[in-house]
Amino acid sequence: MSGHEQNFVQSAFDSNWVAPLGPNVDGFETDLQDYSGVEHAAVLTSGTAAIHLALIILGIERGDEVLVSSFTFSGSINPIVYQGAVPIMIDSESDTWNIDPLALKEAILDRISKGRKPKALILVHLYGMPAKLDEIISVCQEFEIPIIEDAAEALGSSYGDKKLGSFGDLSVFSFNGNKIITTSGGGALLSNNQKWIQKARFLATQARDNAVHYQHSEIGYNYRMSNVVAGIGRGQMIVLDEWVQKRREINQFYKGIFEDIDGIDVLTEPNDKFFSNHWLTAVNINTENAGIDRETLRLRMLEDNIESRPLWKPMHKQPIFESYPFYGGHVSETLFQNGLCLPSGSNLGEEELSRIKENIENTLSNR
Ligand SMILES: *Cc1c(COP(=O)(O)O)cnc(C)c1O
Repeated sequence: MSGHEQNFVQSAFDSNWVAPLGPNVDGFETDLQDYSGVEHAAVLTSGTAAIHLALIILGIERGDEVLVSSFTFSGSINPIVYQGAVPIMIDSESDTWNIDPLALKEAILDRISKGRKPKALILVHLYGMPAKLDEIISVCQEFEIPIIEDAAEALGSSYGDKKLGSFGDLSVFSFNGNKIITTSGGGALLSNNQKWIQKARFLATQARDNAVHYQHSEIGYNYRMSNVVAGIGRGQMIVLDEWVQKRREINQFYKGIFEDIDGIDVLTEPNDKFFSNHWLTAVNINTENAGIDRETLRLRMLEDNIESRPLWKPMHKQPIFESYPFYGGHVSETLFQNGLCLPSGSNLGEEELSRIKENIENTLSNR
């Protein structure tokens, strides 16, 4: 927390707007629209809820197929199954670690040849790194497949001169406790299509029809963000750019450590068009070239009470999803075997950073 949040939370209490509507909800939505350059936003209880509503708004129903990056967090894919739809998982490319445009096209062509054209793509920007948007958008336009942009980890990142979250037909942010800014838990759905965002607000408040009594002609959800929680979000928006800067400095710090180490690559923007918030800095270790494996590095850090974590386990390798179709090779699987997320919090101080540096350099010099 930055210190700005409590003022907004206090104003919710002072005005007694302790409900899933009020000035902070409206204000947070305006902040997100202004920041991302998208015309309409609805703040919700989670990023997962936002993806779920996006699927409903696009008319995804039982038996429909939805494309999704395999290398992601389960929140990207679970809502497909909530709808009774079928996830079609796609491998990563090795530059950005995000969805591989070639495997994406191969999957679309194969599904079409089976008479099952996918109804949407859930496109993830993992660890804040922009996916190869030009290539992906061109494939989706060719086949007229709408994009749900899962920018849950990528608030503050951009591609060209546009912020991530502005590329999808519908886009999603998350404010869960681990994200670059947090409201303790929360999410947002954004779109330039006003009707869709109005529909999201309607569905998120139990789909209540316009009548004096409680009248319902559609299934609704209790997904709206509370005005207290939205106050935290407004305070966090004030420091977002500062924290992006901090995380980028931490990324530079790790690049310095691993610069001359053969076989250990820090996830890096392929060129100037890509601008990552570097939510988490992650490395990919080629065990043979580096002379050390991921687990050794991780466990040595843990001995000094420094927590690091393997990368996301691909969805096509998860027991609950492994029976669904998957397209691509072994990129995401290999990243899972060899990759490590390093401590990247915006609140890491000089002392902590030098402790981390000392630990890693010790491990590396004793290979
Ligand atoms: C966190 C996250 C989500 C889900 O967001 P919640 O707010 O936790 O529901 C979805 N996709 C990705 C890539 C995430 O990291």
